[in-house]
Amino acid sequence: MARFNTQLVHGIAVEDNATGAVNPPIYNSSTFAFSSVDDIPRWDYARSGNPTREFLERQIAQLEHGVRGFAFSSGLAAIHASLSIFAPGDRIVVGDNIYGGTYSQIHEFFDRWGLKFEVVDTQDLAAVEAALRGNGVPAKALYFETFTNPLLQVNDVAALSELAHRYNAVVIVDNTFVTPYLQQPLDLGADVVLHSATKYLAGHSDVVAGLAVAGSDELAHRLYFAQNRLGGVLPPAESDSVRKGLQTLALRLDRQQENAARVAEFLQENPLVSSVHYPGTGIRGKQELTDKGVKGAGGVLAFEVAKGVNPSVILNNLHVFRLAVSLGAVESLAELPCRMTHFEIPREERLKLGITDELIRLAIGIEDADDLVEDLRQAFALADKELEDESAERSVPVLR
Ligand code: PLP
Repeated sequence: MARFNTQLVHGIAVEDNATGAVNPPIYNSSTFAFSSVDDIPRWDYARSGNPTREFLERQIAQLEHGVRGFAFSSGLAAIHASLSIFAPGDRIVVGDNIYGGTYSQIHEFFDRWGLKFEVVDTQDLAAVEAALRGNGVPAKALYFETFTNPLLQVNDVAALSELAHRYNAVVIVDNTFVTPYLQQPLDLGADVVLHSATKYLAGHSDVVAGLAVAGSDELAHRLYFAQNRLGGVLPPAESDSVRKGLQTLALRLDRQQENAARVAEFLQENPLVSSVHYPGTGIRGKQELTDKGVKGAGGVLAFEVAKGVNPSVILNNLHVFRLAVSLGAVESLAELPCRMTHFEIPREERLKLGITDELIRLAIGIEDADDLVEDLRQAFALADKELEDESAERSVPVLR
C-alpha cells in the first residue's frame, strides 16, 4: 500500500472517468441520471453523494485510518453532525479547552436540544473518569481536541480512549490542530475524528470545510444519516480545493513546524513575554509528544505578554503576520483569543481556563522565519516604547 505522503498526493480514485485526467474531475451536477427506473445508480443526487466529494471522503478515511469519511460545508457542520447522532438526555463529557465556536454550539445549541454536557479538564484523567462514570449513568461520549485551543496542551488520545471505552462511551476527537500527518487518533483508540479542513488540510485560507471519519461501520452509518439528513455537505469545487491542499500538507507542516520552533525560541528569550505555550518545548515537552503518540508540535503557538505590556500594540503593528482568526494556512496569522476566537466563552470561565486577556495566538505559515521574527521584534519594540513612555509620564510631575 502507498505510504502516507503518496496517499496525500494520489488519494484513491473513485473510478468515475476514463479520460486519463490526472486530477479528479469537478462534477458540477446536483443530480445524476438513472439508466432506467429499475436502476440503482452509484450516484443519484449530490447531497447523498458526488464523485468529487467522494474522492475527498475516501482520501481522508485513508489518511486517518478509518472506515469512511464525510465532507461537510464547515468544521462546525461536521461537529454538529457528529453530536446529532446522540439522543436527548444523553450525557457527553467535553474537554474544557476547545474552540469557542464548538463551545457555543454545545452550550447555546445542543443544550436546548436536551444533550447534557459535562465539561472537564482532559489533562486530569481522574476527573475525566469521574465524569464518564457519572452518578450511575455513564456518559455516551467523550469529546476533545488533540491539542487544546488556544493553550496547546497535548491530550493523551490513547489514555482518554481507554478510559471512555471502560464506560462504552464513543470517543470523538477534533484533530484539526494536529492533522493525520502528526497523529492518527483512530489508531490510538478514538472512534470518530473531526477536522476543520478550513485549516491545515486545505491550507490556503480559501475554503471553509469540515471532515469527519468514522472508525466503525456502525458509526459510519449514523454519520452518513446525519450528513445526508442535516444536509450540510461540501460542494464539489470546495471538495477539490481541500483535495489540492492535502497534496502539500506534509511539505507545509514541515516548514510551519520549523518556523514555529524559531518563533517560540525568540519569544522564550523575550523579556516582554511571560509564558510561551508551544508543545514539544524542551526535552520534557518532546518526551510528552513521543509518549502521547504525536510526531510533531504543529504550527500554532500562544504566548502571554508580561504585565503592563499591551497585547494590542503588538498585534496592531504586525506587517508580515495578518491580524486574523484561523490557522494552518501558508500565511502567518496572529490574534487575540479573548476578543477573537474565544469571545463566546464568558470572561470568568475563560480566565479560569487560563485564556487571559494578555494571551496572543500565532498561527505560523511557510514564510521565511527571519521575516517572522523581525516582524515580531519590531512590534515588541513599539510595545516596549509605549511602556517606557507611560512609565515616564507617571514619574514626571505635572506642572500647571
Ligand atoms: N475545530 C477547531 C479546533 C477549530 O479551530 C475550528 C475553527 O476555528 C473549528 C473546529 C470550526 O471549524 P470551521 O470554522 O471550519 O467551521
